[in-house]
Amino acid sequence: MIHDQARYTREDDALHEPLLSEKGEQTVDVRDSSPLPDDLTREELTLPNPSEPEVARHYTRLSQMNWAIDTGPYPLGSCTMKYNPKFTEDVAADPNAAVHPDRSDRSVQGTLELCYGLQEFLADIGGMDAVTLQPPAGAAGELTGILIAKAYHEHHGNDRSEVVIPASAHGTNFATAAMAGYDVVELPSDENGRVDVEALDAAVGEDTAALMLTNPNTVGLFERDIAEIADIVHDAGGLLYYDGANLNALLGRARPGDMGFDVMHYNVHKTFATPHGGGGPGAGPVGVVEELAEFLPTPHVREINDGNVGYEAVEPERSIGKVHGFTGNWLVLIKAYAYIARLGDAGLADAAAKAVLNANYLAERIDMDVPHGPFHHEFAATAGDRDAADVAKRMLDFGVHPPTTKWPAMVPEAMLTEPTEIENRSSLEDLATAFNVAYADSDEVLADAPSRTTARRIDQASAARTPRLSWQALDDE
Ligand SMILES: *Cc1c(COP(=O)(O)O)cnc(C)c1O
Repeated sequence: MIHDQARYTREDDALHEPLLSEKGEQTVDVRDSSPLPDDLTREELTLPNPSEPEVARHYTRLSQMNWAIDTGPYPLGSCTMKYNPKFTEDVAADPNAAVHPDRSDRSVQGTLELCYGLQEFLADIGGMDAVTLQPPAGAAGELTGILIAKAYHEHHGNDRSEVVIPASAHGTNFATAAMAGYDVVELPSDENGRVDVEALDAAVGEDTAALMLTNPNTVGLFERDIAEIADIVHDAGGLLYYDGANLNALLGRARPGDMGFDVMHYNVHKTFATPHGGGGPGAGPVGVVEELAEFLPTPHVREINDGNVGYEAVEPERSIGKVHGFTGNWLVLIKAYAYIARLGDAGLADAAAKAVLNANYLAERIDMDVPHGPFHHEFAATAGDRDAADVAKRMLDFGVHPPTTKWPAMVPEAMLTEPTEIENRSSLEDLATAFNVAYADSDEVLADAPSRTTARRIDQASAARTPRLSWQALDDE
C-alpha cells in the first residue's frame, strides 16, 4: 500500500497551517529548521500559494504553449517522436514496481524476471545473444557498446586506434568514438546516399576497431550492401556497430545480428514508445554477440541454472564495469517491456510496415524535391533555394510540428521527416498541406513565421544557452 502512505491528506494540511501574506503568498519560516550554517540559509522563503484551479490552469496553459505528440503530428526525423500508449504509464505506476534497487536478489525475483524477459525480447528482436539494460540513453548505449568493443580488442591483444563512421551518421557516433579514445575516420556517402563501399574498403585496415553504421541510414535508405560491408570490416579484424535509432523500420522483418552486426544499442524511446528523456530518465540497452557477452556492464541479470527457476544479478567475467546505477532506469524499461508484450511479433512487424508506408506516402504528397528513395521510415526533402528553417517555422502555423531541419548535410536545406506509424491518412494529408503551403509562401511570410503560435520566432541559440526556467520568466516577457 505504498500509494496510500504517500498520499497527501487534508489532515496534513491542518498540521501545517499556512501563514498567508496579504498577497495570498505562503511564507514559511525556515530559520530554525535548517542544519546548515547561517550564511548558507535564507531568512524567509516566499512561495506562491495558488488554489487548485489556478494550478491546473497554469500547467494546462504551459503545456499548450509547447508542442506535444498528444496534440498533433510530430514528424521530427531521426528522433522518432511516436505516441506513447498510456497503459504503459499505468504498468510503471503499479505500486509493486516501486522496489528499492538495493534489495537482495531473492526478494526482487519479479523485478529480475522482468529485466531478464526484456533482455530476451530485445536480443530476439535484434538478433543478438546477450543484452544489458543499464545504459540510460541511446548515446550512453553507444559509448557502452564501443567500450565493449575496445575491451574485446584489448583482451585479444589487438592494438587498434580507429573507428570508421559514415559522414551521414548522427553526431553522437563521432562523440562516442572520441570519448572512447579512438581516432575518427569519416566515410563519404556515394551518389545514392549510401555507404561508398570502395571508400570503405580503402578506409578499413589493421587499425580499424569498428565501423559504426545506422541502417536504414539517417535519410531512411537501407544499406543494400550490408553483407559485403560486414565482410570487409570482419576480414580486417574490426567489429560492426549498429546504431539502433532506426530499428523501428526493421522490427520483426530484419535483424541487425543477421546482417553481421556484432554490437548494437536500442533507443527504446524511438522504437518501443517509452518517453524521450528530455533530461529525465531514459534507457538505451545494448545487445552483443556471444563473443562480446563477457564484457557487458555489471550487474547483469541472468537465469539461475541450478534446477530451480530464478534470476540473479551477476558481474560478467571481463565486465567493463558500471555505466549507470544498478540495472538501469527500471521504470522506463518496464514501459518498453509492456509495449513489446502488448504488440507481440505481429504488432511489431505491423508497426514497421506502417512506418515505412507512411514515410513513402508523405514523400509522394509533398511538392519539394525528395532525393533518393524509396525510403524506409524517414526521408529528407530539400527546401532547395528556400531556407529549411523558415519553411519549418511557417509549418507551425498549420498546427503541425515541423521536421528536423538542415541535417543530415548530404541533402542541402534538408527537412528530415519521419511521420511514424501512428499517423493516419488524414493526418498525413494535413502534414503534406502544411509542407506545401509553407514551401510556396512568400519570403516575407516565411521571415515573419510563425504568426499564429503562442510564442513567435524565438532566439533559439540563447534559448538553449541561457534558458530561463523559472515561473518568473513568464512575468518578465
Ligand atoms: C537519437 C539518435 C541517437 C542518440 O540517441 P539518444 O537516445 O537521443 O541519446 C544516435 N543515433 C541516431 C541516428 C539517432 O537518431
